[in-house]
Amino acid sequence: MGFDALLGNEQLKENLSAARRKGRLSHFYLLSGPRGSGKHTLAGLIAAAMLCAEPDGPCGVCRSCRKVLGGSHPDYITVDAPDKKIIPVQLVRDIRADVYIKPNEGARKIYLFPRAQDLNTEGQNTLLKILEEPPSYGVFLLLTDNPEKLLPTVRSRCVELKLRALPEELLRTRLRAEFPEADGGMLESAIRRSGGYLGQARELLSGGGLSEQAKRFAAAFAARDVFALQQLLTPMEKWKRDALIPALLEWLELLEQALLVRSGLTAVTSQAAAIGAARDPRDLMRCCQSLKKAMEYAQANVSCAAVCGWLTWELR
Ligand SMILES: [Zn+2]
Repeated sequence: MGFDALLGNEQLKENLSAARRKGRLSHFYLLSGPRGSGKHTLAGLIAAAMLCAEPDGPCGVCRSCRKVLGGSHPDYITVDAPDKKIIPVQLVRDIRADVYIKPNEGARKIYLFPRAQDLNTEGQNTLLKILEEPPSYGVFLLLTDNPEKLLPTVRSRCVELKLRALPEELLRTRLRAEFPEADGGMLESAIRRSGGYLGQARELLSGGGLSEQAKRFAAAFAARDVFALQQLLTPMEKWKRDALIPALLEWLELLEQALLVRSGLTAVTSQAAAIGAARDPRDLMRCCQSLKKAMEYAQANVSCAAVCGWLTWELR
């Protein structure tokens, strides 16, 4: 099994396997990459490698591996408070006490921080104290989609593992196997919008391929509901460009699908069917142009507020 359960990222997996063979896996890792890039998968594999009964693990089949990968190993501990925006400092203080209690059944005691960027400065400084003098069996896996938010002192203690986008072909092969029912158009759209990250592509495909935002747009646009459209676009004026462009791309794809519906092809989504039935092709084509222009404006550094304001007018 080794680290192969993580897709792509070949160099990173090779380095980890080599370190594992030499018995030189680090005690502190920082796993960085966008949402859906495989940070959790990789953290599980590193933890399994450290607790595996086999010398060249993770084997994936021994009792330890199964427990780690199934989320029930007592020495693989998640540090998080999912209902809180910032991870409470007290939680890190508790770990500082807990880390000196020997592992339950493994050779290591591994702490997983699923969103290290949400530790505030005090939390990070508390963590730093642990990282400065950990017991020999202590391991810390920090996951983040924003490594810039970590103190340089914390970052420099860790070996950073950067997760990369996957090559399109690799992503396509995997998604075809996982979603045999998804049609070609839907699959390609998910690949394009995922940025190359399997988790995001999965999310798009399992959610019927459309974000909540796009579903709302489809309903407002098909009904020619100017007020709903305005309500949708006004909050988007405060969005960052990186979020706005993919959202507009999704709307554009929806209108392009609606155009295909008009030309007699079956709809990929019920939303595209509804738009195709409600608006005529000339109108659809005009709005496609407007969306393309809006994306160009956003790319050319026109403010999101101006782009969204203009679109509200254009898409009426
Ligand atoms: Zn194993």
